[in-house]
Amino acid sequence: MQITSPSFKENSRGALADAQLQKALGNVRAGFIDKRLKAVEALPEFDLLRDNARAIKDHVLAHLDLYLEAYEKKVTESGGHVHWAETAEDARRIVLDICRKANARTVTKGKSMITEEIGLNDFLEAEGIRPVETDLGEYIIQLRGEHPSHIIAPAVHLNKEQVEADFRRVHKHLAEGRDLSEPESLLGEARSVLRSEYFAADVGITGANFLVAETGTSIIVTNEGNGDLTQILPRVHIVMASLEKIVPTLDDASQILRVLARSATGQDMSVYTTLSTGPRRPGDPDGPEEYHVVLLDNGRSSMLGTEFQEMLRCIRCGACMNHCPVYHAVGGHAYGWVYPGPMGAVLTPSLIGVDKAGHLPNASTFCGRCEEVCPMRIPLPKMMRHWREREFERGLNPATQRYGLGLWAFFAKRPRLYRLASSLGIPVLSLLGGGKRRFRYLPLAGGWTKYRDLPAPEGRTFMQQWRDGGASVRARVA
Ligand code: SF4
Repeated sequence: MQITSPSFKENSRGALADAQLQKALGNVRAGFIDKRLKAVEALPEFDLLRDNARAIKDHVLAHLDLYLEAYEKKVTESGGHVHWAETAEDARRIVLDICRKANARTVTKGKSMITEEIGLNDFLEAEGIRPVETDLGEYIIQLRGEHPSHIIAPAVHLNKEQVEADFRRVHKHLAEGRDLSEPESLLGEARSVLRSEYFAADVGITGANFLVAETGTSIIVTNEGNGDLTQILPRVHIVMASLEKIVPTLDDASQILRVLARSATGQDMSVYTTLSTGPRRPGDPDGPEEYHVVLLDNGRSSMLGTEFQEMLRCIRCGACMNHCPVYHAVGGHAYGWVYPGPMGAVLTPSLIGVDKAGHLPNASTFCGRCEEVCPMRIPLPKMMRHWREREFERGLNPATQRYGLGLWAFFAKRPRLYRLASSLGIPVLSLLGGGKRRFRYLPLAGGWTKYRDLPAPEGRTFMQQWRDGGASVRARVA
């Protein structure tokens, strides 16, 4: 997947001018926010569950090595194999080796952001192995040669007319005059086309929402049941997961599951919660002959012990982006890589570098909604600020911004000078505003004034009013 995060501003301009996309993004607001709110209000202990979920993950992250080893032992005992992948390249090579040994020509895939992260589809195709996405949204975007624009609703940027056009373009073996005007008919067609792919596949690849150290179990939640068919029908099942998906026990997983679906889609639980432990045992009616788990690091272990460690609590529910005004405005593709929205603004610089993804933590109003709704209580705005600091320290942000901040810091460290400069600056700025209380243009603030007016300062400074005992200022602060 080509990384376009450095072009976030250009991507965003394109997204804002795309009328169809803007209409589709309205579905994010309507489809997720109210449902989550209702689900949360119906569960009085929701906040307590969030605290427990955070504590579970913090405990795991403090003892990650021990839980990973315990997990590996249990998987091995149950007849499965654990493969450690330090980089995306390692993970791709491991998957290819398994597929080659299985003589695989077709691979079905349940939804997995990790495989997006390592660019697995393009890689397998280049090696002559056909990957078939089985999650409906993923299937649609695969037909279009696109990437997900949302971590739980990958095709949220599309409307049904676009999907109909894609189905007619690709499913040429079906009757031309068929009715595809309703979502149900589109769903029925995808189901019938995918059914034969499940049986044709030699290998099934799924992600994992949780890996349970106590039992060596991987857990996946879906609403379509595609994960079950992907892992049960092929001869070989590969679970792709990143290191931090570990939880100690099944009980811990069930506690986090209670906040996951409510935060994601407003459901009490997802329709399918599927647990798999090792390959098929004698007497089992179904299941794979081989069971592999690929554990991907890809930069996560270097987040441990840093100010970004808490990001590893993320359970990929998507609530932060569902409530983010920036995501609502530009959608997921503008972020230029796998992870969009506030979680992407923190995770992407951690994984691909702040030099490439520096725009993302800057694309925030800091309204705080993401942290408010995050079921794992991840302090996303705080971590975006940390990334801004790293960017500044490394001299990566524009010179005007750096010199502007340097100038401000010079005055801020000298309170008397600061007060003098602001008391002189206000009348000057008021003059520049032409007495109209608004700037149409202001040097160094063109990014703002190009699209909206900037209020001009009026009257006295805050400090002057405070010193004079301005009751109105105190009342506002209080
Ligand atoms: S950061 Fe929080 S809200 Fe966002 S996807 Fe992760 S767990 Fe969900």
